[in-house]
Amino acid sequence: MTETATPSAKVLDTLIVGAGISGLTLAYSLHDRQILVSESTGRVGGNITTESSGEFLWEEGPNSFQPKPEMLQLIVDVGLEQELILADRRLPRFVYWQGKLHPVPMSPPAAISSQLLSWPGKLRALIGALGFVPPAMGEQLSQQGGEETVAQFFGRHLGAEVTERLVTPFVSGVYAGDVNQLSAAAAFRRVVQLESVGGGLLAGAIMSQKNRKPVMPNPNLPKTKPGELGSFKQGLQALPLAIASQLGSAVKLKWRLTSLHPTEQQTYIARFATAEDVQQVEARTVVLTTPAYVAAELLQPIASQASQALRKFYYPPVASVVLAYPISALKYPLRGFGNLIPRSQGIRTLGTIWTSSLFPGRAPQGWQVLTSYIGGATDPEITDLDSEQIAQAVHQDLCKILLKPDAQPKVLAVHLWQRAIPQYTLGHEQRWQQITTNLQQLPGIYLCSNYIDGVALPDCVLRAQGRAADINQYLQSQL
Ligand SMILES: Cc1cc2nc3c(=O)[nH]c(=O)nc-3n(C[C@H](O)[C@H](O)[C@H](O)COP(=O)(O)OP(=O)(O)OC[C@H]3O[C@@H](n4cnc5c(N)ncnc54)[C@H](O)[C@@H]3O)c2cc1C
Repeated sequence: MTETATPSAKVLDTLIVGAGISGLTLAYSLHDRQILVSESTGRVGGNITTESSGEFLWEEGPNSFQPKPEMLQLIVDVGLEQELILADRRLPRFVYWQGKLHPVPMSPPAAISSQLLSWPGKLRALIGALGFVPPAMGEQLSQQGGEETVAQFFGRHLGAEVTERLVTPFVSGVYAGDVNQLSAAAAFRRVVQLESVGGGLLAGAIMSQKNRKPVMPNPNLPKTKPGELGSFKQGLQALPLAIASQLGSAVKLKWRLTSLHPTEQQTYIARFATAEDVQQVEARTVVLTTPAYVAAELLQPIASQASQALRKFYYPPVASVVLAYPISALKYPLRGFGNLIPRSQGIRTLGTIWTSSLFPGRAPQGWQVLTSYIGGATDPEITDLDSEQIAQAVHQDLCKILLKPDAQPKVLAVHLWQRAIPQYTLGHEQRWQQITTNLQQLPGIYLCSNYIDGVALPDCVLRAQGRAADINQYLQSQL
């Protein structure tokens, strides 16, 4: 359905829908152009949700980011360099296994001495890493459209023990996902590619390292070391706020996009429900940075096949539970990043970040803040509990792992994300192909969100910068 555009005083170069990190980065990359960012809620940041009360400061969405160069460049560009804080990379991560916390081995000698894995488990992993890997199961693979699940891929390469005790908790930590549903090729693309480079993961890693061109560190960026994690003194929300302040009046809060229609002039008419009235703008290009299920609704009338494929992306519910305890309530002092819990250990909580051990300024003297995640693809029934029950479930789990028996929590937050993180399940790449093919009939419409090519904040930044380059090229070609 096309519309005839009414002669408009101003046709935007780009309308960006959504003011999460994707939309704001995109807008910042295009800020020399005529742009508008529409955000349905009353705040910028999307998933990034920093909250505070007294001397407590915590995150209810993402907690930290890997300080990759593209992220650091953005931080410098928006004037946040002095606000950046980096967690000590030597802080260990722990896995809870059979009643004990075990540090995740970060080097071959640490793996050899680790008590997290048995000797047969270590040997199996070593043999697989060296390249003695059975081929993928042919029949099973063809039933799954040629794709392996994460459990199948890592089980074949490193054995069942590493998969259960290291891969499964890692998947909980990043995706709140299910290793039996996620596609290895989509969720662990770079790791899966190592198989084609070197047969085994170790040989593949060595060969890719050899083939990689050396990257000169940029002297204008803050110095970081591999393994460090970043945030800001005032929490992650500092980044969206800083970008939005540079964009000024181009960001419209409480502007919810309700419909999108192509015109005969190769532009799009977008209508918004705002706090006061209904608004309409015309734009040459439109980028939807909303979650897939919102993009599916908006595209239904104009790209129904893309819409159908977008509906298939699954976002399980996850609750972030932020509890504070006096230090005296802890079984032992917490020095580390946090702990993850394999699903087989009879503990409902997926994992806990030891927030105030990671970054300074998160808790008053004598207190520890713990941010736990519960729910996810293996436990969607979390939505049956109310906030009090969720806090209680997490507290009871923490009592088994970190706390003395009589510990009492100060509940800072229970944030239930009804649809949290998109799952890169089997068929992911194929769905994305369908979407891009169908959208070719709508030149100037772009999708840019975390349901493709990585969920982490630096992935969102890198993808948004790439999408901005595509849009610039498209707009140039239209002159
Ligand atoms: C609980 C949790 C923990 C996480 N932990 C980490 C972590 O520690 N580190 C990390 O790197 N990543 C983490 N992530 C992932 C990361 O936070 C997200 O991938 C990223 O923030 C997504 O940003 P985005 O801009 O693509 O989408 P979003 O943040 O979802 O932004 C989309 C925006 O679009 C708006 N919108 C929706 N519909 C409309 C409409 N019709 N009109 C206008 N606007 C609309 C929304 O209100 C929202 O502001 C976590 C995610 C969650 C949920």
